[in-house]
Amino acid sequence: MKFGTKAIHAGVQADPTTGAIMTPIYQTSTYVQEAVGVHKGYEYSRTQNPTRHALEKNLAALENGKHGACFGSGLAAIDCVIKMLSPGDEVVSTNDLYGGTFRLFKTIFEKYGIKFHFVGMTDYSDVQAAVNENTKLIWVETPTNPMMNIIDIEAMAAISKKAGAMLCVDNTFATPYLQNPLDLGADIIMHSVTKYLGGHSDVVMGALITSNDAIADEIYRIQNSSGAVTAPMDSFLVLRGIKTLHLRLQRHCENGEAVAHFLVDHPKVDKVYWPGFESHPNHDVAKRQMRGFGGMISFTMVGNSMEDAHAVVVKVKVFALAESLGGVESLIGHPATMTHASIPKQEREKIGVSDSLIRLSVGVEDVEDLIEDLRQAIK
Ligand SMILES: *Cc1c(COP(=O)(O)O)cnc(C)c1O
Repeated sequence: MKFGTKAIHAGVQADPTTGAIMTPIYQTSTYVQEAVGVHKGYEYSRTQNPTRHALEKNLAALENGKHGACFGSGLAAIDCVIKMLSPGDEVVSTNDLYGGTFRLFKTIFEKYGIKFHFVGMTDYSDVQAAVNENTKLIWVETPTNPMMNIIDIEAMAAISKKAGAMLCVDNTFATPYLQNPLDLGADIIMHSVTKYLGGHSDVVMGALITSNDAIADEIYRIQNSSGAVTAPMDSFLVLRGIKTLHLRLQRHCENGEAVAHFLVDHPKVDKVYWPGFESHPNHDVAKRQMRGFGGMISFTMVGNSMEDAHAVVVKVKVFALAESLGGVESLIGHPATMTHASIPKQEREKIGVSDSLIRLSVGVEDVEDLIEDLRQAIK
């Protein structure tokens, strides 16, 4: 089955009791048993819920995986992955990383004796140098946030296999429409479903997908034991959102390309970070492992002044100044004072987050309006 058909049909079926075409919101905590231990596969909604189950099957299908598990947020899904490790284990992670993931690794799990190495992963030798006999997990985010670096998933899979470690890819930015990490050798895919999968800025949710039965058993054991599950209503909203994932992503990609080209040609714009440009340092890798380049773009202003960047992000009228990404509406953000404010200036400049860096999540509005909006704001 092809992607759009799976987005609409995978994991869902007409309700057997009423014929309802939409999966009902099973807003229930428990399920009546006919006799002790005789039930229909559902006993308690932390462990299993039919609405969540439909979504988990749908997500697994979209990523060409066997098993899916949904959590109360993207971070709860990441939390589950790290809980598969033990004290003394080590993790090699992308350094240009979602801020919340960095905070979870550093301030929560380090004190339980798990060691994290943050390295630039576009240079494989740096990854290789950080791997040792204690490495149990390689954590990849690609494209990275906010610098839009592209990490070669197949190369990371080769390193992790040799080390006997798991490879987990945060596929939030690319979505399964543009990139399928399991097909490239990853063991686990993580999503912040909050972003493109939900797509309408109305749900916070996370997901893990794997084809490995032993890893899936661990994920379900931790999901049930720690209890960070997602709600039936939210599962319903995301099932609905995903039915248009392929249509939305098509438009995100088209609009992203048009906005990226507008920015590159603008005399007040300095650098534009978007993997679709042939001049992007990892363009070849992006072309090989992605089916499109997405709607996430970062750029800097000539002169690199924070005041100029602040002026742009408040002058926009169609773009909204907000954190998050991946919704139908276009968002604009200033990483140095928003998502990356907690990182010291020297540190953030090392990874490219300069004072004037602006990040766009290009939505699915008419692109003429988006470009006109940026034109009047940058002027
Ligand atoms: C938002 C985000 C997360 C965290 O997900 P939440 O749903 O906000 O908990 C993780 N990784 C990336 C790349 C994100 O954009």
